[in-house]
Amino acid sequence: MSLVIVGSVAFDTIRTPWGDREKIVGGSVPYCSLAASFFTRPRMVGVVGRDFPRKTIALLKARGVDLRGLRIKAGKTMHWEGKYEDDPNKRSTVRTELNVFDDFRPEIPPAYRNSSIVYLANINPAHHEFILKQFRKPALVAMDTIRLWIDTQREALLKELGRVNIFFANDEEARSITGESNLISAGKALIRLGPSLVLLKKGEHGALVFGRDFVFGVLGHPCEHVIDPTGAGDSFAGGFLGYLDGREGLHVRDVRRAAVYGSILASFTIEDFGIGRLETLDPGLVEARFRQFRKLTAF
Ligand code: AMP
Repeated sequence: MSLVIVGSVAFDTIRTPWGDREKIVGGSVPYCSLAASFFTRPRMVGVVGRDFPRKTIALLKARGVDLRGLRIKAGKTMHWEGKYEDDPNKRSTVRTELNVFDDFRPEIPPAYRNSSIVYLANINPAHHEFILKQFRKPALVAMDTIRLWIDTQREALLKELGRVNIFFANDEEARSITGESNLISAGKALIRLGPSLVLLKKGEHGALVFGRDFVFGVLGHPCEHVIDPTGAGDSFAGGFLGYLDGREGLHVRDVRRAAVYGSILASFTIEDFGIGRLETLDPGLVEARFRQFRKLTAF
């Protein structure tokens, strides 16, 4: 069992119509590793400044996250600010201060090099090669992307899609990469670009999962009070890959369960600001929501 998560560790300032938070812990890696920690002992790779809270490091350790790949550098931790309108699926970036993340060239610790799953979260596709060549031969490589790379690194992104096994994207990203406005066509077009699995996240409505010869949907847990949607995508990926880390290969039955767990972890994350809900969550609550999910989709 070995899942490595490479990406951002940040302070986030979040503005929503129902409340604001200044510089709380965020970034793709904390969300993803906390979500994955319900199924496996994720290995994280990231960089923070000396201003990063020890309390969060202690929390990650207590959850069994392997921190040997976390660098603490002189300087400031990345800071991102996002703003949501009334529709929680619509978010704009107000500012991004990359700080120590700016020139981050991840060094993979020797102990991680034989890992079986590598997840490249929000990483500039032009840096994938440098990271992946440090691994022996992972069974699965997964990635997601952000608008910035679609707009500025299109060729590198398409090249990376040609070699990864799993791709996570939201509906808007899928449309803009493929030029297809219909999501089913967009999902199929992404599969033709290379990955054997494509997960299209549709915010509070769940996700569509595409394979070479199947497509299925997974609901979002019905949640009436969304507090902060930040990190939902990373938590989905963490739940999904964390569950798969204990399985062999990509069997459809496992992929279905993994997608349900991804959706469930994301549904907890959005119930509080930042990683707040993941901090207090326990495995019993995850399983209880899994059982509720069964009832919700039974017919
Ligand atoms: P999500 O809501 O799952 O799409 O991811 C939100 C997280 O992405 C936030 O916690 C941010 O800190 C992080 N993030 C925002 N912009 C960037 C960027 N340019 N590079 C890496 N991470 C970012």
